[in-house]
Amino acid sequence: MDALESPGAPLRIAISGAGIAGLTAAISLRKLPGVVVDLYEQAAAFREIGASIGLGPNGLRTLETLGVHNALREGVCIRQKGRHHQVYRHWRTGHVLACDAHRAVTESQHATARFHRAHLHAALLVHVPLDTIHLGKKTARIDVSGEDGLVLHFADGTSAHADLLIGADGIHSATRKWFVPHHKLHWTGWVAMRSTFDASLLDGVDFPDDAAHWVAPHRSFFHGRLGHGQFTTVGGFTVDPADPPETYRNVRWDDPGSLQRLRDLYRGWHPTVQALLEKTPYTRLYPNMAGEPLDTWVYGGGCVALIGDAAHTHGGAFAAGGSLAIDDAFCLLLALQHVWPATAGAKPCPTQIQHALRLFEATRLPHVAKVMTLARHQIIGKLAPGQKSEGSEGSKGSEDARRDGRAADDDEKLMAFIRSRPDTAWINEHSVEAAFREVVEAEAAASRVDRDRLPHSQL
Ligand SMILES: Cc1cc2nc3c(=O)[nH]c(=O)nc-3n(C[C@H](O)[C@H](O)[C@H](O)COP(=O)(O)OP(=O)(O)OC[C@H]3O[C@@H](n4cnc5c(N)ncnc54)[C@H](O)[C@@H]3O)c2cc1C
Repeated sequence: MDALESPGAPLRIAISGAGIAGLTAAISLRKLPGVVVDLYEQAAAFREIGASIGLGPNGLRTLETLGVHNALREGVCIRQKGRHHQVYRHWRTGHVLACDAHRAVTESQHATARFHRAHLHAALLVHVPLDTIHLGKKTARIDVSGEDGLVLHFADGTSAHADLLIGADGIHSATRKWFVPHHKLHWTGWVAMRSTFDASLLDGVDFPDDAAHWVAPHRSFFHGRLGHGQFTTVGGFTVDPADPPETYRNVRWDDPGSLQRLRDLYRGWHPTVQALLEKTPYTRLYPNMAGEPLDTWVYGGGCVALIGDAAHTHGGAFAAGGSLAIDDAFCLLLALQHVWPATAGAKPCPTQIQHALRLFEATRLPHVAKVMTLARHQIIGKLAPGQKSEGSEGSKGSEDARRDGRAADDDEKLMAFIRSRPDTAWINEHSVEAAFREVVEAEAAASRVDRDRLPHSQL
């Protein structure tokens, strides 16, 4: 689908943030005829930071629809040989406790895939002309009420004009802060310890080929292959966020972590887990942030929309953040195409843009609100039953003793927890296109009812 020529002034779309959501929005919106899309990214350069990111069938299908076939290629990402969405193993015995199957995945390329985030980012980047990405542009202020219309002001003192702004600037979104200054993020107390490294470092280690969550009553561990021959290990712990131990008081995202600490957390676990951690060459800390759901994702009188982590601060639950961001971005295209068909000629007026954003929000917000509600109740792989926050690092010895003494009881709780885990197929197999069609049909039905209520003389 290439952009067609359209007469008249183009629709100027500015995107704040060139992460997963921002790049997918650019790929999507550039398909509209008569648009100019510019991305403004705070980073001075894209660096290979981050670790593993998973995409479910929802995000993968959307990327395929958008023509981003390179991201789906085996080798860029890795899928389970057993084709399961998730596998859960017992922390001590290694037995598979449960698997989450895909429900309606008929084509292998739609099965859950795992990437290094930098590789997914790079796969998206090849679909966006580099001269439309403006690096070192940190959104600082947004003006929607001046004579000049919508203006983005950057921290370096420059600015840009647009007709529509997409806030795709991540969990700490400046766009969200500008329009919803009272919205607060909080540290959940969970700190992930993540590493990615060349899988060849594991030569000689016997481990299951498929990625798995190893689950204990008090914490979990994740390992898995990623694209480009990479491998990831993810451990973690929780602290009381209101009173964390000194070491973690000022912990920041991507800070170096202690390998010794990581290995100590998993002493007594299955030998495979310990062997994987022995070979893990470094670890970095990722304190988990979350926030309350927003009432709306549309601001500035209908010319600004939030997408991705900027819109939903769900704390990475269910490993759904990447796919949710991709579906948000694609939904903008569906909505704009609907209110502004390719044959329309002149660029959409503010009322049409407002209408498109209303349809976008009506499609995405209720779905993501459900995800966030579920996340609040249960975050599998992070908060297992009986999980306690760690008051101090010195508590490890007594913790081990308690753990051994409670093993049988804990196993029962663990199994109960596993059995009661939510079925998340409705999240990772959600169809944004079907949801959008329902919203459009509901709108059409509502307007038919309104018309039927009008006296004939007013028709
Ligand atoms: C460098 C990086 C590494 C990550 N690594 C992982 C990972 O390993 N595993 C995982 O599950 N998730 C990771 N995430 C988060 C994950 O990408 C998102 O949760 C998810 O993909 C949703 O994407 P998003 O585009 O909404 O947010 P993000 O991917 O976070 O992208 C937001 C983008 O906006 C930019 N930005 C922020 N503020 C401004 C501003 N004021 N002005 C302009 N630009 C701004 C950021 O630099 C970033 O490029 C990472 C995010 C980043 C930025």
